[in-house]
Amino acid sequence: MITFNKIRYDKDQGKTYCNICGELFKENTIVYVSQQSFGMACEKCKDKFTNEQIEEFFYLFNKYGGHFEIYESSQIRLEEIVKEFFNFIKHKESSDLIEINQKIRHKALIHGFTPEQLVEKMKDLI
Ligand SMILES: [Zn+2]
Repeated sequence: MITFNKIRYDKDQGKTYCNICGELFKENTIVYVSQQSFGMACEKCKDKFTNEQIEEFFYLFNKYGGHFEIYESSQIRLEEIVKEFFNFIKHKESSDLIEINQKIRHKALIHGFTPEQLVEKMKDLI
């Protein structure tokens, strides 16, 4: 089971950001620290996403950089991201599928689309 250590952030810990939304932690706020990986989440993100999703986001942002909604969703339509994914898998070996899947999930996240929205759009377009 995925759990997080709940700590109270104080400025002596240095300038630290939420590894999901990228917001700077304010003095005296609650921060959730992963027990499994390198990552910290603010209360807002902890409420918005499941623990499993948060761990996956830490992994993807550590691997590919950025954070949730670093770009505005208006810059790209979710449909374009999904179509790009379908195009990729048409031409790639199946061994690349995990990597392609991770990249597409990351791309959706940095544009502010949730995994649920991504899956719904995929279902629409299949
Ligand atoms: Zn956050």
